[in-house]
Amino acid sequence: MSVTTRFAPSPSGLLHAGHAYSALRAWDFATKHGGNFILRIEDIDFNRCNREYEDLLKRDLAWLGLEWQEPTRRQSDHIEDFQQAADQLAGGGLLYPCFCTRKEILAEIERAGGAPHGSEGPVYPGTCRSLSNDEGAARIAAGENYALRLDLSAALLRFSTAFEWQDLESGTITVSADDWAQIGDVVLVRKDIKTSYHIAVVIDDALQGISHIVRGKDLFESTHIHVLLQALLGLPQPVYLHHELITDRDGKRLAKRDESETLAALREKGVTVAQLREKLGLSL
Ligand SMILES: [Zn+2]
Repeated sequence: MSVTTRFAPSPSGLLHAGHAYSALRAWDFATKHGGNFILRIEDIDFNRCNREYEDLLKRDLAWLGLEWQEPTRRQSDHIEDFQQAADQLAGGGLLYPCFCTRKEILAEIERAGGAPHGSEGPVYPGTCRSLSNDEGAARIAAGENYALRLDLSAALLRFSTAFEWQDLESGTITVSADDWAQIGDVVLVRKDIKTSYHIAVVIDDALQGISHIVRGKDLFESTHIHVLLQALLGLPQPVYLHHELITDRDGKRLAKRDESETLAALREKGVTVAQLREKLGLSL
């Protein structure tokens, strides 16, 4: 079996030890299996990303000893690929426009007496699902801004068996009705950036022939959505490896705002890659 892994950071801040851990796990997995390692720049969120961070993260990854082919795929150069995928889903009647603001969604949830809480926050109560096509079209024609949401129930009706995917650490994962209830009608085309992480990552993983996706446990639940999208779009399902998240001394997950733990700061303090690997529990 040929192995291709990837590391796909967002250039929205400096990389820290948590990113290094994820990148090294993907790199080590590829090299151990004589495979390829791909670097992809996930910069669809133009409000948060910039080129300066892209240069800095490449410098950090080179310091870690990683090698990749240039040019790297930059997601912002391929928005039309993602829009095509959304069009395909919309053509199958699986997307609907949602005009709700965050405030309206929270108010609706309060009225309904609560909502299941998933990894991305409270589940969307489905307010706009019942809008007629005419009403939706009229509001769009009137210039109202909208997101496109996946009609999850309609999507799942296409499949007769439960979704399964493979995780190299957790084994075979079966997505239960309860898991889906905590996901709900996710946004696949955001109001602001006209696509979404879920669509972009699924399309690029397929386009780039990623066989093994190594990433943090924070994305475990997102994988349920990704395998559903892969099935709906006729894309292959890769194997996953969700690793533990690296935390700081207080057990808090490292965040981009923790400047003291950035790779640049560690390097400046004289920390070597070998020392960093040891600290992260990774062999050389
Ligand atoms: Zn809505």
